[in-house]
Amino acid sequence: MKLEAIAHVRTCYGEKFGVPRQSGIVDEAWGELIFTPEFRDPDALRGLEDFSHLWLVFLFHQAIRTDWKPTVRPPRLGGNKRVGVFASRSPFRPNPIGLSVVRLESIDTTHPEGPMIKLRGVDLVDGTPIIDIKPYIPYADALPEAAAGFAPHAPEKLSVHWINNADQGLSDTSRAVIEATIAIDPRPAYQDDASRTYGCLIDGYNIQWKVRDKQIHILSCQG
Ligand code: SAM
Repeated sequence: MKLEAIAHVRTCYGEKFGVPRQSGIVDEAWGELIFTPEFRDPDALRGLEDFSHLWLVFLFHQAIRTDWKPTVRPPRLGGNKRVGVFASRSPFRPNPIGLSVVRLESIDTTHPEGPMIKLRGVDLVDGTPIIDIKPYIPYADALPEAAAGFAPHAPEKLSVHWINNADQGLSDTSRAVIEATIAIDPRPAYQDDASRTYGCLIDGYNIQWKVRDKQIHILSCQG
């Protein structure tokens, strides 16, 4: 059996580093789902507009390897403790398939590239191929009493400070997605070096920042 990408997403994340580690943590994180030409059929989306959230089944296309390892080191555990790959949400798995719940913001049926679905809360790098879409059904999919292993709660949010007016000229939406993304501290958990400068691409901007005493200082933001 051959799986085909039914769509790709354009997202605010230009590279893997900085992408939230789960969907829904950064609601400002936008995505636009563009269908592959042969799947640009509005009938395939009939009724989808009545759901507020979607499951996306996707390919971790930037984590494809020919070999696989039975254990991984989740960033949540400090990056030095191993768990089984099937006890993790790591992109590095025998079949590099991911699963995310995202918010359906709108469906644009007049878009020149066929029906375009606007999404929020993505944890996907720009260009991620989508294998399937399904509606999120709360009565079946939401299990608040479930045991959550080594990931019992969402990451802590740090305070974000823009240094030397680094946010000058930014739109409110770019500022919001950058702040909300950096606030959840994308650094590997084992790194806590106040002198180190980190960088990533968000919403078309190259962001450079440092972290000291649980405070984030954004040093520059180049468009
Ligand atoms: N919610 C999904 C899941 O549970 O299957 C993804 C979780 S995974 C821990 C999220 C991370 O995957 C992101 O922080 C980013 O580093 C990485 N990622 C996102 N899109 C990717 C892609 N297309 N290829 C490889 N890695 C990707």
